[in-house]
Amino acid sequence: MLRLALHWQILIGMLAGTLIGLVLNMTCSTRSVEIAESSRLPKGIVAANIDDSSASTRIRYTNSAGTTIERTIDPVDRSENVFPSVEMLAQSDPIAVQIYERHGQSLAKRVGAWFSRLGGLFLRMLQMVAVPLIVTSLMTGVIGLGSSAGIGRMFRRTIVYYLCTSMLAITTGLFVVNVIRPGLRGEAVKVAKVETSDAASLVDVLFAQLEAMIPKNPLSALVAPNYLSIIAFTIAFSLFTISVGGRTQDRIGSLATAGFEVMMAMTMAIIRLAPVGVFFLIAAVTATQGANVFMSLAWYVVAVASALSIHALITLPLIVKFVARRSPFEFAKAMSPALLTAFSSASSNGTLPLTMSSVEERAGISNRTGSFVLPLGATINMDGTALYEAVAVIFIAQLHFGMNLPLSQQIVVAITALLASVGAAGIPHAGLVMMAIILHAVGLPMEMQGVILAVDRVLDMARTAVNVWSDSCGCAVVEALEGNDASFNATTDR
Ligand code: ASP
Repeated sequence: MLRLALHWQILIGMLAGTLIGLVLNMTCSTRSVEIAESSRLPKGIVAANIDDSSASTRIRYTNSAGTTIERTIDPVDRSENVFPSVEMLAQSDPIAVQIYERHGQSLAKRVGAWFSRLGGLFLRMLQMVAVPLIVTSLMTGVIGLGSSAGIGRMFRRTIVYYLCTSMLAITTGLFVVNVIRPGLRGEAVKVAKVETSDAASLVDVLFAQLEAMIPKNPLSALVAPNYLSIIAFTIAFSLFTISVGGRTQDRIGSLATAGFEVMMAMTMAIIRLAPVGVFFLIAAVTATQGANVFMSLAWYVVAVASALSIHALITLPLIVKFVARRSPFEFAKAMSPALLTAFSSASSNGTLPLTMSSVEERAGISNRTGSFVLPLGATINMDGTALYEAVAVIFIAQLHFGMNLPLSQQIVVAITALLASVGAAGIPHAGLVMMAIILHAVGLPMEMQGVILAVDRVLDMARTAVNVWSDSCGCAVVEALEGNDASFNATTDR
């Protein structure tokens, strides 16, 4: 039987969902209805108007005393509604809900709400695996390091390189998304305009992040879940596992590896449901919000792609040229099998064996550097993912709030994007799973991920290639620095 590759299935799910959603939106939505006959209205109401042209529904009615009341509701029941849901409004203003139920619940919105719930099941599964996946992936990566002797200096260099390039990537992403402003180019997609408060000072915001990194109770951080606390505690736990060493390290290390294998298998199984998830999520979006959503999405793809290109084609090659003192072009050519595989598989873990062999056999880097820098990089160094998270979250915020996030919030995004990329597993769509952390940090609803899910696969391919490219450049940099030391000390350990 012919089985299409997953990304084709996702593409088909997306197209089918889009088409069905759009047809529903065009044929079955209530744009703006005026109801003037009192027989069609609740007692005491003389006129009503329902406007369904954006994601929320506006109901305006006039009573016999001539007073006009206006309400806006969120027809799709979300966890963090901007406007009251139907149930909530029924308590405060039953008349508005009666009018809405009689005339305002267009088929498109009703079906859209169901699509959104069904697609929500897929999102729930992704949320379900997030915490155990992060914990086991990080533990495996960090504890795995401890087995080689004399790693201190190389470890520091590798970490400094990873941090610097990830921050550069995030900065590039933030710069580009603030210039292009993809989320402010479409129209009806905005869920609502709400004021975000910029009241907390930058120091407060940063200090709060620092506090979150020291959880009072790691178990309640797991339950909450507070991802920042989880990542910080897991790294600390793994480092101390290495320092205890011996059988303890072996036992904890193999337990983490076993757990990671299972979580990877589970995540991959969930990802297989992506075509169906994408179908429902995109259909929900297009059924309730119409075609305008694509205008913004195109700009979003442009923003992510240009930021990734700047990082991969300018920033990293400059580092290779001036720090590693190699020709970036030659190096990229040597790494091409790994980069192409990363692109088509969207998995840096899956590509790892090829990355290691390309680095050693084609780019002439020592096994000592390659076997240390690359596995760690596949786990914690994800420039492409970090950049993508930052752009995606700012884009979602632009769509959701109808304006750009204030600077303090963008800094929260940058820091959480860095941590999210550290915690992301090197498997397809892992970045999407991790995005929950950042959305949560800046108070955005998870459901907004549905908007970008449709184009996630193609962006995942691009960001994975950038992830692997950055790991490879890291090898060149660390190798050059270690080599300098070696010749300086007149040792011959290479
Ligand atoms: N697919 C990426 C990787 O394996 C992770 C992500 O989803 O961003 O590197």
